[in-house]
Amino acid sequence: MPEPIRVAVAGAKGRMGREVVRAVSEASAAEADMTLAAEVDHGDDLATALRDARADVLVDFTVPEVVMDNLRTALPLRVIPLVGTTGLKPADLEELRGLCAQYHTPCLIAPNFALGAVLLMRFAQEAARFLPDVEIIEMHHERKVDAPSGTAARTAEMIAAARASGTPKGDAPGAFETFAGARGGRAAGEIRVHSVRLPGFVASQEVIFGAPGQRLSLRHDSIDRASFMPGVLLAVRRARSLGGLVIGLENLL
Ligand code: NAD
Repeated sequence: MPEPIRVAVAGAKGRMGREVVRAVSEASAAEADMTLAAEVDHGDDLATALRDARADVLVDFTVPEVVMDNLRTALPLRVIPLVGTTGLKPADLEELRGLCAQYHTPCLIAPNFALGAVLLMRFAQEAARFLPDVEIIEMHHERKVDAPSGTAARTAEMIAAARASGTPKGDAPGAFETFAGARGGRAAGEIRVHSVRLPGFVASQEVIFGAPGQRLSLRHDSIDRASFMPGVLLAVRRARSLGGLVIGLENLL
C-alpha cells in the first residue's frame, strides 16, 4: 500500500480550516490514504511546520493578505498547494505559474470546492453559447472580506470565454446609477456581478440569463461548509498528478 499523503492545513483554526481538519482526519481513519500532518494558523511558522511534518500537500484556507506568502514558502519546499483562499489577482497567478515551473511542483487554485458550484459554472458556460445577456448575483455570509467572490469572478471568466456569438445588449442609452454600485461591478466580459453579504448565507450564487420573453436562472447554494469537503479530498488524492498551475476544480473531474 502506498504511503498516505501527508496533509498540512493552513488556516486550521478558521471556519473552513476546521472543517478540512475534520474531513482529512475522517478520511484518514476510513481509508488511510491520507494523514493530517500539520495544522498551521496565524503566528505559526509555516516553513518549519511543513518541514517537520514532511508535508506532501498544503491545503490553504487563510486570508487574501497571507496566501501568497504561504505559497512562496510551500512551493520551494516542493509541497503542493491546494488553495481555497480567494482574492488572488492575475499578477499573483502569473507569479505562481513561474514558481510552479521553477520548483517543478504543481499548485491548484480552486475558487470553489463544492462540486455543485463547479457544475453550475459548467452549465453557465453551456448556456452562454446561446444567451449572451447575463448577470451574476453572489450571496455570502457577512464575514467574508473579499468581493466579489472568487467563484463569481471565475464564473464570469468562463462565461466570457464561452460566449461565442451574440453581443450583450448592455444598459439603455443614458442609463445612470442614482447610487454608485447599484448596477454591480463589472467582471470579465463586462459581466455585472452583484455581491450580497448577509447572515444566513454560507455561499450562494445565481447566474441569470435573459432573452426576449424568457429567463434562465442557474443557482447553487452551499448551506453547510461540509459541501466543500468532497472537493478538497478529491484534490488531495489527485495532487501528485496535477501539472503546473491548475485553476478550477473542474480540471480534476
Ligand atoms: P476564517 O477567517 O474563518 O479563517 C481564516 C483563518 O486563517 C483564521 O483562522 C486565521 O487566523 C488564519 N490565518 C490568518 N493568517 C494566517 C497565516 N499567516 N497563516 C496561517 N493561518 C492564518 O475564513 P474562512 O471562512 O475559513 O475562509 C477562508 C478563505 O477561504 C477565504 O478566502 C474564503 O473566501 C475562502 N473560501 C473558499 C471556499 C472554496 O471553496 N474555495 C469556500 C469557502 C471559503
